[in-house]
Amino acid sequence: MSTPKRTVPKPEEQRGLRCPACGCADLRVVYTRPGRGGGVRRRRECRYCGHRITTSERAQ
Ligand SMILES: [Zn+2]
Repeated sequence: MSTPKRTVPKPEEQRGLRCPACGCADLRVVYTRPGRGGGVRRRRECRYCGHRITTSERAQ
C-alpha cells in the first residue's frame, strides 16, 4: 500500500509563493513592515484575483 505523495520542490516561504485562492504565483508586494525578531512582514496582493496575504520573512 503506497500513499501517493505530492512532490514539493521547494518550501513556499520567500520564493515560489503562491496565491492560496487561485494558485497563481504573480503576487505583488503592497507594503513591507518590520516584524518581530528582526524579520519583515510583507503584504502581498494577487494580481489576478486580488486576494491578499501576509507573509513573514526572517532577516538573516
Ligand atoms: Zn489569486
